Amino acid sequence: MSDKYVGFAKTVLIALVLATTPLFAINMILNQYAESRAMTEMEAMGQASIRRAEEAISSTVSLLQRLDRDDVQTCNAEDRTIYEKLIIESGMIDAIGLVDASGQRMCIIPDRELAGEIILPPVRSDGPLVGIGMLDRNYLGARAAVISWDLKDQTRLFAEVTPAVIALDPGPEYLRSYRRSELRLGNNLLWYSVGGYNSEGNDPGNMLSVEVSSELYPLAATVTSPASAAGHVVQELKVVAAAACAGGAVLFVAVGIWFSWRPESEANDEFVAAIRNGEFIPFYQPVMDIETLRLRGCEVLMRWRRPNGMIVSPGQFMAYAENNGHIFDMTRHMMRVSCDEVGELYGENPDFKLSINLFAGHFLDREVISDIKSIFEKSQISFQQIVVEVTERHPLQDMELARKIIAELQALGVRVALDDVGTGHGGMAYLQKLGVDIIKIDKMFIDSISSDDSSTTIVDSMVELADNLGMGIIAEGVEQEEQIERLLELGVTAAQGYYFAPPMPADEFIAFAERTEEEAEERARLAAEAAAAEQAASEAALADAAA
Ligand code: C2E
Ligand code: CA
Ligand code: CA
Repeated sequence: MSDKYVGFAKTVLIALVLATTPLFAINMILNQYAESRAMTEMEAMGQASIRRAEEAISSTVSLLQRLDRDDVQTCNAEDRTIYEKLIIESGMIDAIGLVDASGQRMCIIPDRELAGEIILPPVRSDGPLVGIGMLDRNYLGARAAVISWDLKDQTRLFAEVTPAVIALDPGPEYLRSYRRSELRLGNNLLWYSVGGYNSEGNDPGNMLSVEVSSELYPLAATVTSPASAAGHVVQELKVVAAAACAGGAVLFVAVGIWFSWRPESEANDEFVAAIRNGEFIPFYQPVMDIETLRLRGCEVLMRWRRPNGMIVSPGQFMAYAENNGHIFDMTRHMMRVSCDEVGELYGENPDFKLSINLFAGHFLDREVISDIKSIFEKSQISFQQIVVEVTERHPLQDMELARKIIAELQALGVRVALDDVGTGHGGMAYLQKLGVDIIKIDKMFIDSISSDDSSTTIVDSMVELADNLGMGIIAEGVEQEEQIERLLELGVTAAQGYYFAPPMPADEFIAFAERTEEEAEERARLAAEAAAAEQAASEAALADAAA
């Protein structure tokens, strides 16, 4: 049943939504977690480098202050020895020397070519005692810092801080080759920069960045890293989450399938229970004589009335019922219930016909004959009132047997109609071979008779053929008044369709039948009166003339 597929598709959709929604959420949470964790780690890196730089500067400044205090502040041999010793002891100072007021080096230990190099800006009387600058010399991306200390005589002691002292904290593994760390002095004097080698292709808009400043010196450390690198830390968790969600989805779909696509036997049990509970009921659609507007009878059309009151059309279940063989029981049930519901009406109106739909399978077994016999024998509906319909839509497998069954039914007085004529397999030859009594022209042709000439021609030839073979014709699916006019022109006298009435429950059909008959009798009475009046008038005229 198509409901099943719709249900299945819905289940899969819901499962996907339910599975991917948490995946999105988990991914977002993990990304946020990764970013905040990376930021924390980057901040720690920034703080560590600030701390190290502060320590290097502070201990160098205090070393220079000590020299000043101890009066070690010249370029003479005695002081040079002290500088040498200090360099070895401190481990973080590469050189110590003196500059003059203009910033030119006076001496440097260990000895180096001075070449009149200016290494510090000229001294300022209002400036701070401590000066910090940078040399170009660098080591692994870090430059040597120069720390100076002003002496009384406009000269300055200075020390070069080894770049190695800033030996960098590489940070956690996952950030190592992505993050870039920088330490700046003052506004823009780069002390060191390192990393960011893998920055190509990184979305610059999606960078994480942390800045840490020193409270003691004009130092600022910045650490940047692409957000994607931070994501590496949760990569494994993401895989786990995706696997969990996929597992969840599979489980959900499986459960969904179980519920929407229950095992066939269970669905079948439900169907059988519905049959046993009498949920399949007949509706009756009037068949009208369009010349006299009197009721000719009805067609029995099956409905499934669900326990919740919902009415289901045969399109939803008929194929299933046929494929599973339930249709045989269901058809017998239709016949019995029809006898109960409209038997009395039919007893009172011996001209009414009752059309029962059979399917191709009914013509593979004589059982249908005995069913009709046993059910209608005891009822108020006579065999002469029964019409069985066989559709042309589906082929009859055993034409010979079908013909015999039809002949036996006809021998009882039952009439046979070929349904949906023009839509199916048989063609005109079918009609002759089967020897049916009535043809029902499908709605498809009736729909277009007012607008489409070719369809009129088809109906024309059907009418002609039916006339030649002595068969009756019923037009199906009549919805408009003009269709009735055309049908009358074509010589069709029986029709069913929403124009008159849709299929309806027994009580409504009985009321419809009574109303239609009353109206017809009223019309007949008025017509008789009018005729009598005319007769009287013409007799009076004759009498006058005679007089
Ligand atoms: P069908 O035998 O051709 O029945 C006529 C269908 O046309 C019915 O649909 C009826 O409700 C619909 N119909 C009648 N007048 C109009 C109209 O003016 N406009 C439109 N649009 N439709 C109209 P329904 O009742 O849904 O039945 C569908 C089919 O199911 C039937 O087609 C018949 O082939 C099958 N069926 C119904 N009851 C039984 C049954 O008891 N046994 C078997 N074997 N088949 C049945
Ligand atoms: Ca029918
Ligand atoms: Ca039909």
